[in-house]
Amino acid sequence: MGNTNDNIIELKHINRIFEDGFKAVEDFNLEVKRGEFVTFLGPSGCGKTTTLRMIAGFDMPTSGDILLNGKDISQLPPYERPINTVFQRYALFPHMNIFDNIAFGLKLKKLPADEIKKKVKKVLELVDLEGFEKRSVSTLSGGQQQRVGIARALVNEPEILLLDEPLGALDLKMRKEMQIELKAMHDELGITFIYVTHDQEEALTMSDKIVVMAEGKIQQIGTPEDIYNEPKNAFVADFIGESNIFNGIMTGSMQARFAGGLFQCVDDVPQGTQITAVVRPEDIELVAPGNGQIRGKVTSVIFKGMHYEITVQSGRYEVVIQNTKSAEVGSDVGIKVEPDGIHIMLAENHTNFFHVDMNKNHRLEFNNNELDVSLTQLIKGSRRNENHELLDEHGEVIDPDKIHIVAAIEPGDIRMTDNTDDEQVLVEGFISNLIYKGDHYSYVINTDFGQDFIVNDEYLWNMDDRVGLILPLDKMKFTVKK
Ligand code: ADP
Ligand code: MG
Repeated sequence: MGNTNDNIIELKHINRIFEDGFKAVEDFNLEVKRGEFVTFLGPSGCGKTTTLRMIAGFDMPTSGDILLNGKDISQLPPYERPINTVFQRYALFPHMNIFDNIAFGLKLKKLPADEIKKKVKKVLELVDLEGFEKRSVSTLSGGQQQRVGIARALVNEPEILLLDEPLGALDLKMRKEMQIELKAMHDELGITFIYVTHDQEEALTMSDKIVVMAEGKIQQIGTPEDIYNEPKNAFVADFIGESNIFNGIMTGSMQARFAGGLFQCVDDVPQGTQITAVVRPEDIELVAPGNGQIRGKVTSVIFKGMHYEITVQSGRYEVVIQNTKSAEVGSDVGIKVEPDGIHIMLAENHTNFFHVDMNKNHRLEFNNNELDVSLTQLIKGSRRNENHELLDEHGEVIDPDKIHIVAAIEPGDIRMTDNTDDEQVLVEGFISNLIYKGDHYSYVINTDFGQDFIVNDEYLWNMDDRVGLILPLDKMKFTVKK
């Protein structure tokens, strides 16, 4: 493609393996258009900062190319790249006033004094701090300091501005204000923004293009609408907005079975295909019991300002609903989803997601089995008191009902046994479907737990066989939601 297109920056097969062997970024490929607002979105530790540092020139890829306007810039030191970075906490010089802080780089470049003055004045206007030249850093609020940080990057007139969680240190109200201002600044300046955040809402509201990352790899690249409406896999669906995610199977033409019910959908996927179904909470309607596809009991209702978040327990499935109307805790309801509210995904790996509880003993429990997993490691900042109760970061005893833990395990990591007395068996069930996948069989197990599990096994079992499932703890991944 070269330089004939309007890409300002291209990353090609970028890998970054740290000296200790850790792969922080893997086969990262991205094209950024001139003037675009691109956001790297992903959980902490997924490689966002590492990627940004390579673009800025503070770090070098282990392999792969970074092209700027079609030219390889791997040999260019940071200060020769037309790129500036705004960090989460901008290191302002506390002993200098605002003018000197912003003018610092320009003075090093030995620009004439009146030109420096003009440029500083202009960027101060841009960040809405006109007249602040003489003020000292210590008199500014966090939000104002961050604006000075942005002004200091903008004064160099970079072609690309990198922003690494620039609003992360601000309170919610200030963050919302700055989001709007940054977006306006981007539109006004016309320069390319590459923005890093772990906040999905921030990414959705600000970006032209979102790059969703997990564990050093790109999961999906798309517009906010693409990412929200058509998530490519369960990770993206789970990370972007609240989602209900179920393992399931196609039972007919545009009909799927999941969450213990039969649903009409709009995706024409062959019968028998194992699927992941994603349903957004706002796409679910509460109706009279019996009128929907499944029924359940309301277990909690939380007012969220614009809507109610209603949780319904249906068998073993927990369903989260957003509705402008409230519901009564303990009432029986029907759950109804229109066909276009159901997103069917064919992830090549059908990760099994299931809920595990924190029990009265403050241990992790699944299907009446205590799991030997350290909750203090799972829940950030927690510790145990002398009664072995779990305390949160403020030293308060954690209420087990307030903690939701989702476990994930890959179908290939589950083992099946016909010896259901085996101590390692965590749940039992019947084989309700099997598909030959070339080098293994993929099974749907209808478990007594009430949830279907997908299990890959190299051996042929029979339909309706009763099996025990062994879920090795070291293969499970846990996500804590409060
Ligand atoms: P993010 O910005 O998405 O939170 P980072 O890019 O900072 O993530 O880090 C990605 C991963 O690389 C993390 O697991 C981090 O611990 C690891 N990492 C970062 N720098 C180094 C380093 N110099 N050596 C080894 N591992 C590192
Ligand atoms: Mg980071």
